[in-house]
Amino acid sequence: MKLIMFSTRDDEKPAVNKWSIRNGVEVRTVKEDLTLDTVSLVEGFDGVCIQQRTDITNEAVYKRLSDFGIKQLALRTAGYDIINMDLAERYNMKITNVPAYSPRSVAELVLTQTMRLIRQFPSIERDMAEGDFRWSGRIAREIHTMTIGIIGAGRIGGTTARLFHALGATVIAYDPVQHDELRSILTYKESKTEVLAEADIVSLHVPLDSTTINLIDASALNVMRGGAFLINAARGPVVDTSALIESLQSAKLAGAALDTLTNEQNFFNQDLRGKVQTDKNLTLLMNMKNVLLTPHIGFYTTEAVQNMVDIALDNALDIIHLNRSVNEVV
Ligand code: NAD
Repeated sequence: MKLIMFSTRDDEKPAVNKWSIRNGVEVRTVKEDLTLDTVSLVEGFDGVCIQQRTDITNEAVYKRLSDFGIKQLALRTAGYDIINMDLAERYNMKITNVPAYSPRSVAELVLTQTMRLIRQFPSIERDMAEGDFRWSGRIAREIHTMTIGIIGAGRIGGTTARLFHALGATVIAYDPVQHDELRSILTYKESKTEVLAEADIVSLHVPLDSTTINLIDASALNVMRGGAFLINAARGPVVDTSALIESLQSAKLAGAALDTLTNEQNFFNQDLRGKVQTDKNLTLLMNMKNVLLTPHIGFYTTEAVQNMVDIALDNALDIIHLNRSVNEVV
């Protein structure tokens, strides 16, 4: 049994080696994405694992994979919109994803950024870098006196709620789907508006879909408490960035931490040193003393990477051996 893994990063290789030894299955890792130019690498392998941004829309790729006897494509990500599902079905190819790799990974980033925001680290660090070491007027609240509002209390939102509850904070949440096991640590509210109006810190954990685009727009920001903080580690377009910038500029909001931004594919995970930044909103946010930006690193922990690799390769084996997987997407 031999699998081939495309778009392999160096940091994934230890996880791949561990999985390979544990399962007695050879995994060849290559850096390239799966495209028409690289599909010939699959010849002689029994299964394929991928993780890429480039859509696989060319029918010839699916046909060649099928000609090589490939029955599956195992994605190492939750999203699978790079796949043309009609073409996959036409060539009898089963697609699997990794729906959850480590909710804790994103939840711990949210906790970190929240603590940094309430202690005013973004402005303190900038001022200190210029030689201003004064702290007068920079009094902070302690987390156990604060109310955390979670919008979207699923895997990541629920895990985030548990961390804040453990620190003694009051946690409230809005989610149309309520989970009984979370009731002991948070209070569900009937609407997003109630959460926005009551929380000192609002953290977003909804998927991006037609109901969540601009979920936090100018009117939602107006409902938030004066001096509140907003955290977005979900998806950029969930927040109307221009409205957020206005709210921060008018000091209605005390600060924001953003791990995702609209159009982030144009700048996150790229080395743009020495290049002129053309994204106006990114430039404005980077110049704000009460904003923390991170380049979509919520998912990026050793545990999450190991889980992505393990679950994706397990899915590939399940399809090859059993013709089914719990993580098959339809
Ligand atoms: P999940 O499906 O377990 O939870 C999402 C929750 O949002 C569900 O409970 C759902 O009912 C709720 N929801 C859907 N629409 C809503 C709405 N309009 N208002 C309120 N709640 C709504 O998903 P998850 O695993 O917790 O992931 C959440 C999101 O986090 C992902 O969709 C992804 O966008 C983001 N994410 C970010 C990173 C990162 O690196 N920053 C990593 C992984 C996931």
